[in-house]
Amino acid sequence: MKKLFSISGGGIIIISLVVFLTHSSSVYSPMVTVLSTFLSIVMGVALITIGDLLERVRFLEKQLNISFDEDRHKLPKKTCPKCFTEHDFDYPRCPFCHHKY
Ligand SMILES: [Zn+2]
Repeated sequence: MKKLFSISGGGIIIISLVVFLTHSSSVYSPMVTVLSTFLSIVMGVALITIGDLLERVRFLEKQLNISFDEDRHKLPKKTCPKCFTEHDFDYPRCPFCHHKY
């Protein structure tokens, strides 16, 4: 994902510089050429920055072990010794038979 943004951002910068250098004496006024080149470079830098930020978010997710997967948010289970039903471990008593253990 980062590569896609980096390549497209770098490509836009290079293309805008090439266009600027080859068309600097075109029919458009120099101000328009400079302004459009500047905007293209800003867009390219923004794309590279977005790619970098996405990579950092992914890295932090990995470091902090954050995920939106269902299984990771499920609590560990324990089994009631009286009615033998399985429930989340954080209940102080069995939610089915109210046996306290
Ligand atoms: Zn029970």
